[in-house]
Amino acid sequence: MKHVASRMCVICRKRRPKTELARYVLAEREGEPAPDAGQTLPGRGVYHCFDGACGAAFARRLAGKKAKGRSV
Ligand SMILES: [Zn+2]
Repeated sequence: MKHVASRMCVICRKRRPKTELARYVLAEREGEPAPDAGQTLPGRGVYHCFDGACGAAFARRLAGKKAKGRSV
């Protein structure tokens, strides 16, 4: 039996197998997560699932972060 590591969706906080999640890597410099389709990039990863609004909520969170960094 093959073991698949499970990760937590940052939006709904449910644990799922990595294969059911989208991985983003937090780039220290840019301060903004980059999509990691192969799930192999080094660095701190965050995951979101494809359940309900999780994808959209994650995108909104990214957008909010960007806006905050730019505030006066
Ligand atoms: Zn989720």
